[in-house]
Amino acid sequence: MTTVLFDMDGVILEGPRTDPQVYAAAADAALADLGADPTPAQRRGVRTHDHERIKTHCRELGIDPDRFWKLKETHASKGTHDRLRSGERGIYDDIDAIRDLGDRTAIGLVTNNRHETAAFVADYVGFDFDIVRGRDPTFEGYERRKPDPYYIDDALDALGVTDGIYVGDSPTDVTAGRAAGLETAFLRRPHNRDRERPRNATHELASLADVSSLVGPE
Ligand SMILES: [Mg+2]
Repeated sequence: MTTVLFDMDGVILEGPRTDPQVYAAAADAALADLGADPTPAQRRGVRTHDHERIKTHCRELGIDPDRFWKLKETHASKGTHDRLRSGERGIYDDIDAIRDLGDRTAIGLVTNNRHETAAFVADYVGFDFDIVRGRDPTFEGYERRKPDPYYIDDALDALGVTDGIYVGDSPTDVTAGRAAGLETAFLRRPHNRDRERPRNATHELASLADVSSLVGPE
């Protein structure tokens, strides 16, 4: 059977990415945890994903950059989970197709988002994913995000397979999926409606309901 791996943001979770406000709040919470007293410029700096800026400001503030980053990631996960539980961030209404597919073949969740959030979402939607892989809470883990195929390769290794389909809503999903040796399916969502279909995409889907047709008969 064909293994099918799914991206998370923009595929299961509504919208293409985590709200920047979640990271701003997470950075503030991490600073408070560490007892730091930043200037406004330092606070702005560590709210970004700019590693050099963050490391510089952490050194200025006398806090460990790795520890700050990990705390920020943990707080961002908590913030995201709260927004999902409260319904502030929705999930798409066609995702039950993933559950149905899981009855027929191996399915996985592979995302640029934090691993903690990927695990939360897998549990929250209640799908029996064979593998769940999100980014590690380190600077290096952040750099391994798609279009780097690192996490897709890692998921394939864990499953012991070398082929399959990666379903995503972004051109970087297609780039990463191809680099990992997979077929790719570019999923149309409201936020990418007007985007050109990525040239390397093997398939284009109007809805997750169409994904089962890519897998073939049981
Ligand atoms: Mg996405």
